[in-house]
Amino acid sequence: MHCPFCNQADTKVIDSRLVADGAQVRRRRECLSCHERFTTFEVAELLMPRIIKNDGTREPFDEQKLRHGLLKALEKRPVSVERIEATINSIKQDLQATGEREVKSRYVGEKVMEALRSLDGVAYVRFASVYRSFQDISEFRQALDHLESAPE
Ligand SMILES: [Zn+2]
Repeated sequence: MHCPFCNQADTKVIDSRLVADGAQVRRRRECLSCHERFTTFEVAELLMPRIIKNDGTREPFDEQKLRHGLLKALEKRPVSVERIEATINSIKQDLQATGEREVKSRYVGEKVMEALRSLDGVAYVRFASVYRSFQDISEFRQALDHLESAPE
């Protein structure tokens, strides 16, 4: 790939290792021209089912939204980015394993809850009570925003 510093086409891989429980490959690269080093992450591009919202409308699965929700829930908690990324991958694998072309947002929500329960008890308890009435992942996010501004 092109060097992000000088845009030269030739860069070489100087180190390569598996991260996020083997779901990603982290590569250290060096530009052959300016010798700057940078890192790339390689992940499999998976075809995800679409999400059926409670009102019956469909939307594409949004990995960023999922990540954002998890990061919010785990804010200031002792859980590494590595584990969060592994969790995101595991939720995606679960969704794919359903073999469905569309899944209910509620199903995704429950998967997130399960993941949080094993990741961090405090983050789980923090919003488990509010999650139960959530309609979809975007409401989940709004509630997390709300939690953030509420006193502990
Ligand atoms: Zn360069």
